[in-house]
Amino acid sequence: MNRADQGGELHAGRREAAVQVGVRLYVEADLAAGAAVPLDPAQAHYLRNVMRRAPGDAVRAFNGRDGEWRATIAALGKGKGALAAEAQTRAQAPEPDLWLLAAPIKRTAIDFVAAKATELGASAIQPVFTRRTAVTRVNADRMRANAIEAAEQCERLTVPAVRDAAPLAKLLDTWPKGRRILFADETRDGLPIAAALAAERAKMPEPWAILIGPEGGFAPEELTRIRAVPGVAPVSLGERLLRADTAALAALAVWQAVMTPNA
Ligand code: SAM
Repeated sequence: MNRADQGGELHAGRREAAVQVGVRLYVEADLAAGAAVPLDPAQAHYLRNVMRRAPGDAVRAFNGRDGEWRATIAALGKGKGALAAEAQTRAQAPEPDLWLLAAPIKRTAIDFVAAKATELGASAIQPVFTRRTAVTRVNADRMRANAIEAAEQCERLTVPAVRDAAPLAKLLDTWPKGRRILFADETRDGLPIAAALAAERAKMPEPWAILIGPEGGFAPEELTRIRAVPGVAPVSLGERLLRADTAALAALAVWQAVMTPNA
């Protein structure tokens, strides 16, 4: 459920907990001492009606460029408001360059993947149409809303880019030179994921992408095409055949654990 329709459903206990940890908002505007930061209608509604905040209350804000800032609510009305940025609380820091390419799955599952991939540190989320993708439409705006809420909640300083869905063949034909692909290969012919990544760790920081197929798996010609991409690493995620959403999160978690062990 997105911020805009949370209204009356936030339980009082959760509201108290949220007050204690403080409100954190992703904003588009630049952040600097004294900067006025406009709130969009959904943010104003969230602060006013869900979190019961008022002018003068403290929040934290980040925009993916200027670190995190302590701010106060300067104005708050129905569908509008503004923050006043005061002081930086965290400097912007580099993050791993890790894309998630995943065939779209049904609505709830893809929104769930967008939120969880954000928590697990994906820098971009790219829905991919494959031969056997059953879902024909992807609501990228709703995925973006889920990514923003997850970034606010998990203390990230960035929000992953959520790209418009694109056909697998087109993406592979224009694949950026040097970006590795960790290919979740359901035939399980690949190396176990942790062993495959351990062998690559010394080359970090390299840009990577994780590729996950649809419920029906990849077609044989797609498997051949993917395996022909320079630098692809086909991996197994274990003996069990995972659902696509589970596979995406498992691969992201293992990549982070092996490739950014001190993070
Ligand atoms: N219908 C396919 C089949 O029977 O082989 C299974 C597709 S699976 C539900 C969806 C995607 O998750 C796969 O395309 C693959 O990318 C990934 N996946 C699931 N389990 C995996 C495993 N054990 N190893 C590697 N990839 C896996």
